[in-house]
Amino acid sequence: MAAAILDRILNTDGAKYPTDFQEIIDLMGGSNAVGPSGEDFVWRAYNFGKKAHQGQLRKSGEPYFTHCVEVATILADMKLDPVTISAALLHDVIEDTGYTHKDVEQEFSEEVATLVDGVTKLSDIKFRSEEDKQAVNFRKMLLSVADDIRVIIIKFADRLHNMRTLKHLPAVKQRRIARETRDVYAPLAHRLGMYRIKSEMEDLIFDILEPKASQELHKLIPKRQAFFEKYVQKFLEPVKEKMGDAGFEAIYKSRFKTHYSIFRKMRDQNRPFEDVFDIYAVRIVVERVEECYSVLGLIHAFYTPIQERFKDFIAQPKSNGYQSIQTTVVGPDGFPVEVQIRTKEMDDTAEEGVAAHWQYKEQDSKSSQEDIDQQVTWLRNLVDILQTEDKTTSHQFMDLLKIDLYKDEIFVYTPKGEVRILPLGATPLDFAFDVHSQVGLHCIGAKVNSRIKPLNSELESGDKVEIITSDSQKPNSSWLKFVKTSKAKSNIRKWIKGQEFEQSVRLGKDIIERELRKIKKAKEWKHLKDAYITLKFESEEKMIASIGSGHRTVSSILGKFFPEEYSKPRKEKSESYYAESFLNRARRNTKGVSIQGIDNMMISFGKCCNPIPGDPILGFITRGRGITVHHKDCDTVGTNLPEEERIIDVDWAAARSQKFLVRLKILAQERKHLVRDVTETISAYDINIDTLSMKVDGDVVTGLVIIEVEGVKQLDRLKGKLLASEGVISVERE
Ligand code: MN
Repeated sequence: MAAAILDRILNTDGAKYPTDFQEIIDLMGGSNAVGPSGEDFVWRAYNFGKKAHQGQLRKSGEPYFTHCVEVATILADMKLDPVTISAALLHDVIEDTGYTHKDVEQEFSEEVATLVDGVTKLSDIKFRSEEDKQAVNFRKMLLSVADDIRVIIIKFADRLHNMRTLKHLPAVKQRRIARETRDVYAPLAHRLGMYRIKSEMEDLIFDILEPKASQELHKLIPKRQAFFEKYVQKFLEPVKEKMGDAGFEAIYKSRFKTHYSIFRKMRDQNRPFEDVFDIYAVRIVVERVEECYSVLGLIHAFYTPIQERFKDFIAQPKSNGYQSIQTTVVGPDGFPVEVQIRTKEMDDTAEEGVAAHWQYKEQDSKSSQEDIDQQVTWLRNLVDILQTEDKTTSHQFMDLLKIDLYKDEIFVYTPKGEVRILPLGATPLDFAFDVHSQVGLHCIGAKVNSRIKPLNSELESGDKVEIITSDSQKPNSSWLKFVKTSKAKSNIRKWIKGQEFEQSVRLGKDIIERELRKIKKAKEWKHLKDAYITLKFESEEKMIASIGSGHRTVSSILGKFFPEEYSKPRKEKSESYYAESFLNRARRNTKGVSIQGIDNMMISFGKCCNPIPGDPILGFITRGRGITVHHKDCDTVGTNLPEEERIIDVDWAAARSQKFLVRLKILAQERKHLVRDVTETISAYDINIDTLSMKVDGDVVTGLVIIEVEGVKQLDRLKGKLLASEGVISVERE
């Protein structure tokens, strides 16, 4: 306490606090609003953070702590509580200084420590890839968010300030962070109704990912500004007059939409800037809900509404709490004008989303707690889905996370008239899974507005949906291609995985039994029940399944227990030898790759994805090492790029008629005529077989085929056909 007072004296020229701290208090509503204990709490956090980050610098050269102050300032502007502001000032203390969770808890409170912990990335784990790291950290953050939603509000402010100051980082890192913000943070902010943060993020993302278009808009928009201001005045003049007559008090706001959304309109409508009119909105904020409708009537009396653009989100709020009336009318000179009508509280919620609840905490604490709970339920469900997907790859995890953050929503109804909110583009199957996972899994059809519709048709707002189920119905993997919600996707995937596992177990058991008979050890299996422990499998079933699925060979398992039966050395060359020589041959057959017209550059191929002719590719320029060519879908692209690398367009320098060598690995259950059927299937496509080898291992045949195909399309058709043949388990390109 004495130290705090001393700091206060030393840090000031007569003023009570340093200016940056004073600004935080002012934004929070001034000393009166914060209260003496709140003010002192935040002040202690300020000093603690400042000391903890002493000597650390940001990439911009500024003291590190300025970042923490900025983050707190963003949140103070949103009127968050002293605990959140303090946590914001301390948000990097656990991650970047020597202090621990315990220290923060002892110095401040459990609440502050938990918030800071929630935004702290895991640091003591080694990650295989950038994507793994991203997935693990999002999972951790979302888990803490389910307990206290303020974690994500702090994280948004943190990310927003990092985006504002991104220009100090190398270009590749800028793009990576911008992409992550675009894919996860901005949609999450949208989902939580935090439009102000989302809009600023989107404009910053736009500046980095579309620099040309952004510079152009920065030049063009000010030119329209004067016209726009005059026009809005003209538009509002008669409305204001009538409003005054009727005795309504209102706040009028008008502004351009964000640069990013203007850009999207230009791109989607394929129009130049001059031809896009729908780029600003007029907002009328009134006192009471009833007045919103009176104002609406007034506007429509003056200007003709465009029917399909009218939306009443007051009667039917969006799931993120957004409430407003939206109408687009034909204004003077025939230009369309979007008008938003709402109350003050709705306006705050529309701007700050879930964060606005803290502003209304005192006035109406019960209802705002319910609102927060509702948001948290949604997040908890998301976390639940993400949790059950524990075994998914990081890539699938990020995919699932992205799906549920989809932009627009539709409102559909159950036969009983209950409303269900689904993402735009959702299908009857999504609806079925939304009702219950069992309804989804057994869904065979749907009636939309009393008419039978295919399961993959798109639902529209207002549709009444009735699901038809059958006990004998089972999901199939084609469902995954059209469902839009994480809930549906995750349930279908879980079911398929379970099925695959069951089949693998059945097949694996069969293979083991035959093999044991072959080596005359059939009776010994029961003594090997615990073999899985020695072999480090989680269970006996999983060990057996690994054989059925082809991940392990039966000899690699039984060889451990009957070494004498498997002691004969195998003379085959290693698989990697085959792979290497094949790739080299495939590449020699084309003229190589051409790089924006230039041949003969130093070229190497990414070992991570082994691209072959016909694959979509791109190149990275590496200083001093020429160009590395990767598959466009390679995980390395966009995640693991060393900073000095630059992306460049490359193409296979191949003639149209040229054929490409492809190596397929076919896994099948041993049966009569398998080889004949495989070769016949391939020949039926008029495809030459270069090499074919089959290796029988117990009951499973591993086939390696090198073929000449015209392209990826032909290959995909062939793969489908091969997969459909009897006994074929998998067909994979190597
Ligand atoms: Mn930070």
